[in-house]
Amino acid sequence: MSDCLFCKIIAGEIPYDKIYEDEKVLAFLDISPINPGHVLLIPKEHFDNTLETPDEILAYMTKIVKKIVPAIIKATGADAWNLGVNNGSGAGQIIFHTHWHIIPRLADDGLKHWPGKPYPKGENKIIAEKIKQNL
Ligand code: ZN
Repeated sequence: MSDCLFCKIIAGEIPYDKIYEDEKVLAFLDISPINPGHVLLIPKEHFDNTLETPDEILAYMTKIVKKIVPAIIKATGADAWNLGVNNGSGAGQIIFHTHWHIIPRLADDGLKHWPGKPYPKGENKIIAEKIKQNL
């Protein structure tokens, strides 16, 4: 994809801070990190989002997350981490090339989780049933 920012990074057309690279994936620092050491992990082949990415690549990405996270934690002193995936513009996806955010966390870093809200009475059973019917 010639207009894809991450494909341009893979092609070496844009400078970036590489963390890890092999034949299938690339990991680099997010230029606007939530915390220092915030890494993006992407497949080298272009897919728009998680659902379009083949299962074997997603499984491989999971393996690489498990390789990279301990190094991020050691390097940053983080005591926890989030794996974040935005799929679709409504979910905050800006670059439409599959990417996973690995975000080192500290208990006092000030980042709040998204707010939860309780279901109105009975709505949970309706939604659960609708989802199951569509599996
Ligand atoms: Zn791309």
